[in-house]
Amino acid sequence: MSTLKVVAEPGFDVAKVRADFPILREVINGQPLVYLDNAATTQKPEAVIEAIANYYRHDNANVHRGVHTLSDRATRHFEDAREKVAGFLNSPSSRQIIWTRGTTEAINLVAYSWGMNNLKAGDRVLVSWLEHHSDIVPWQLVAERVGAEVVPIPVTADAEIDLDAFEALLDERVKLVAVNHVSNAMGTINPVAEICARAKAMGALTLVDGAQAVGHWDVDVQSLGCDFYCFSGHKLFAPTGIGALWGREELLESMPPFLGGGEMIETVSFAGTTFNTLPFKFEAGTPNIAGAVGLAAAIDYLSNIDRVAAAAHEDALLTATLEAALEIPGLRRIGAPKHSAGIFSFILDGCHPSDVGMLLDEQGIAVRTGHHCTQPLMAHFELPGTVRASFSMYNNRDDVDRLIAGLKKAQSLFGPR
Ligand SMILES: *Cc1c(COP(=O)(O)O)cnc(C)c1O
Repeated sequence: MSTLKVVAEPGFDVAKVRADFPILREVINGQPLVYLDNAATTQKPEAVIEAIANYYRHDNANVHRGVHTLSDRATRHFEDAREKVAGFLNSPSSRQIIWTRGTTEAINLVAYSWGMNNLKAGDRVLVSWLEHHSDIVPWQLVAERVGAEVVPIPVTADAEIDLDAFEALLDERVKLVAVNHVSNAMGTINPVAEICARAKAMGALTLVDGAQAVGHWDVDVQSLGCDFYCFSGHKLFAPTGIGALWGREELLESMPPFLGGGEMIETVSFAGTTFNTLPFKFEAGTPNIAGAVGLAAAIDYLSNIDRVAAAAHEDALLTATLEAALEIPGLRRIGAPKHSAGIFSFILDGCHPSDVGMLLDEQGIAVRTGHHCTQPLMAHFELPGTVRASFSMYNNRDDVDRLIAGLKKAQSLFGPR
């Protein structure tokens, strides 16, 4: 049925990758699932599902506590997983990897621990218009408490960060710049190395929200030159409830604990408590051990995949989708970033995004509709929301064909004649 040309990427066998993801064999509303909501969460390969089940079958115990063999095994798995994440991000040391529930908790950790103790009245935190609510609201909460200000960095009509406007905002009041590596609403790949370099030249710290980047490529925090980087496991083919914050070691050393409790202390008395060393200082309470095991399994799984070829495959799918979709009368792409990671955000004239989403769901096609946790960006484009199709390495040309057929159907039902 297809007339679209999606050339297979050398070194990347999409059929083989698809076979690793059992959920892709689900039938939804009588049709094989087309999963195009990868920017919300990615699916999990068998290897990750098995690693979690095996951990509970064979190794489950609490970490860093027992003297018994299982506790030892659980601790080893948990700390090996930390090493894996350190390797994945090219961190100089695993002490710089703090386990969190995900990106949101990681940003809150920095906002409360660093921000509450370093931001003063009159200081500024710059965040872009492209940010997810989780890279806006924590800064607002802290800024309000200390009298600082959260100032947005403008974006262009193509949904790219306006670097000249950014430069103009950079002055001595700016203490931290927080931007995402990839926009979850528009797919924009932001020039974060350049943004970090400019911020650093002005003496500001930088935090990069990598939630949307890790699903597409391996990250090198050292070459990015940022001070903090964070991501969520569930957007990296791993479980929900686990993620990581990476920080520059001397900064993390200088920051007070965020949450208090077990695990993060050295000694506790009513005269006063002393805190554990990095990374444990920031990890109060029993952590998500199985989640860390699952995340390590996802990183192992990806180490056997040519990620450069996978990203090229995703680009080819996006290009084919754009070519066909932009022929549909009344369909308008929102944002047209030059560098984009597998995300197509659009509206169909005369048709509410959620109606498009429901019509696609009836055909077994999962997309996201709404504001994508980026209400300021939607307000900027004067839209209540968009329809968003987001690709991952396991999507194929059949998914593109089915999406286009679904959109044509939506157009014929609700669109302009
Ligand atoms: C998903 C996402 C977040 C939030 O991640 P959680 O897993 O919900 O904590 C933040 N920023 C971006 C860019 C995202 O895509």
